Amino acid sequence: MTQNIKAGGLDFAKFLSQVPPDLRARINERNRKEAIEQHKQFREAFSAGQCSFCGQPLKNFDVANPCRHWLLKPDGFRKEHFELLAKKHSWSVLAVRSQPVDFEFLAGIAEY
Ligand SMILES: [Zn+2]
Repeated sequence: MTQNIKAGGLDFAKFLSQVPPDLRARINERNRKEAIEQHKQFREAFSAGQCSFCGQPLKNFDVANPCRHWLLKPDGFRKEHFELLAKKHSWSVLAVRSQPVDFEFLAGIAEY
């Protein structure tokens, strides 16, 4: 399994290294704008105690509606609920993304 993940990552890095620089720049710019807008929406909702993904209060926990805001551990959330999140969202979606995708950095990985 680990080898498959490594091989997949390497294949993806090789693919990215072949993307023309101007296309990478446009994609990076689009991702930056999208990330800035998502961050703005998140901050506004968060300051109001609301989830920017589902629109529910951050303290809300409903087993029937898994949401990323569960990672803030609302009352009722337990470890076994992670699996419900993983079924709804991939682990990569659940990972905190603090920066836009840097294709040049990823393309550099292919050099190794
Ligand atoms: Zn939510």
